[in-house]
Amino acid sequence: MDCIFCKIIKGELPSFKVYEDRHTLAFLDIVPVNYGHTLVIPKKHYSNMEEIPEKELKEVIVTVKMVGKALKEGLGVEGYNVGENNDPVAGQIIAHLHFHVIPRSAGDGLALWPQGKYGDGEAEEALDKIKKAI
Ligand code: AMP
Ligand code: ZN
Repeated sequence: MDCIFCKIIKGELPSFKVYEDRHTLAFLDIVPVNYGHTLVIPKKHYSNMEEIPEKELKEVIVTVKMVGKALKEGLGVEGYNVGENNDPVAGQIIAHLHFHVIPRSAGDGLALWPQGKYGDGEAEEALDKIKKAI
């Protein structure tokens, strides 16, 4: 399989490793949104959130939490965003599940997405469709 992140795990491609354990790896995003932007991945290849078993997802999230704390303390930033782009339509370019942990500081100029509002009955309709799928 031609997966860049699998190659990083195997050591076939270089990376700036932030943290590693048996199941997860954290490394610097090479095109950072902000200084210290870190990616957290499972060592086993799963393309997205639907693919990874819950137990393994928990291990990844625990590493995300640890990295977030380290970014705050180590870089002296005030907060961070955690993001996961799921599927190409949502901006996922690399098909190996990864969480972005992005350090944030006041006035860093990074804007989040715009928000809209529900029309009459739309919230109820959305709720109904989502709950049926759970
Ligand atoms: P996504 O759009 O969620 O799939 O994000 C993929 C991320 O991987 C982007 O932010 C890229 O900058 C990052 N990236 C791509 N190649 C590498 C690499 N070799 N080392 C570190 N980060 C990478
Ligand atoms: Zn992979």
